[in-house]
Amino acid sequence: MTQAPVTETIQIRGLRQPVSRIALGTWAIGGWMWGGADDRNAIATIHEALDLGITLVDTAPVYGFGHSEEIVGQALAGRRDRVAIATKVGLDWKDDHKPFRNSSPARIRKEIEDSLRRLRTDYIDLYQVHWPDSAVPMEETARTLEALVREGKVLALGVSNFSIAQMEAFGQFAPLCAVQPPYNLFERAMEHDILPYARQHDLAILAYGPLCRGLLSGKMTAETKFGADDLRSADPKFQSPRFAHYLQAVRELQDFAREKHGKSLLALAIRWVLDQGPTIALWGARRPDQIAAVADAMGWHLSADDRREIDAILARCIPDPVGPGFMAPPGA
Ligand code: NAP
Repeated sequence: MTQAPVTETIQIRGLRQPVSRIALGTWAIGGWMWGGADDRNAIATIHEALDLGITLVDTAPVYGFGHSEEIVGQALAGRRDRVAIATKVGLDWKDDHKPFRNSSPARIRKEIEDSLRRLRTDYIDLYQVHWPDSAVPMEETARTLEALVREGKVLALGVSNFSIAQMEAFGQFAPLCAVQPPYNLFERAMEHDILPYARQHDLAILAYGPLCRGLLSGKMTAETKFGADDLRSADPKFQSPRFAHYLQAVRELQDFAREKHGKSLLALAIRWVLDQGPTIALWGARRPDQIAAVADAMGWHLSADDRREIDAILARCIPDPVGPGFMAPPGA
């Protein structure tokens, strides 16, 4: 049997075995904010990811309001031992499907049972607080999660979209093993604080949006339009005049990837994330052909000169960069 292409792995503290450094992100699979989803394609994508050597799947209750977790559970039935599941906690919603932050002990206790049922499992490998909730004392959130670890319902804890101060506060009451910030060639804020902190504290970094919501796939043009139920309609990167700047950077990065390494921009974008530190790239895909491109990101590296050249392209093309702050749900 030939070896699956995804061979790079990383050990997240608390997990039973190392996981692949490319994980499958399943937000789009939930349909919500991504213009709907096709379940059969979604399940085939998860199976394809496993066949390619991916052993970590990231989901969340809020992705499709339970739908993404249900599809992951359905796809992994009978294959649970081959993969680690990362899901999240701490976003709530009512009938209007408008998420808001809620990391109260009662919400956590409800969510863990809902997630275990939807995912058809009796434990979560990595349980991450989706967004910080300043309305609930960190001690209450962290101690409730730590109890889930003691009860065997969760193997390891992580946080997402947290500041360093919030991570420090969390770490006083529960062991923190991983952090999930936005990170890609165009969104680099975490390099200044989270990256050094993660190195210092042995945290794995699950980098979300490594393709910058498709911008770094290289398939978008000035004519690309998004539907009303697509988060990119609200993303300032995809509005004029910034969109033109980002597309110019895409073109120059594409040329660089092809001329210097004989690679696609997509492979460059993923490789760049993996070469930056103790990172895992959360590749968002909803069709098997999208994740099949994974092999191209394996087995090569970017040099310090490459990284300097990439930085020069970004500085030249994008005079007014903007982060992914538009995604933050209400609350703080
Ligand atoms: P992403 O991975 O940066 O990009 C997904 C986009 O890339 C989709 O638009 C998809 O196109 C496109 N794409 C994927 N493979 C492709 C290929 N081979 N060729 C061309 N296009 C391709 O974005 P993301 O889904 O926002 O982030 C990834 C994961 O991170 C999520 O699924 C989720 O698990 C996690 N996440 C977490 C948070 C958080 O707050 N913790 C926030 C965002 C994301 P189409 O649109 O055509 O399908």
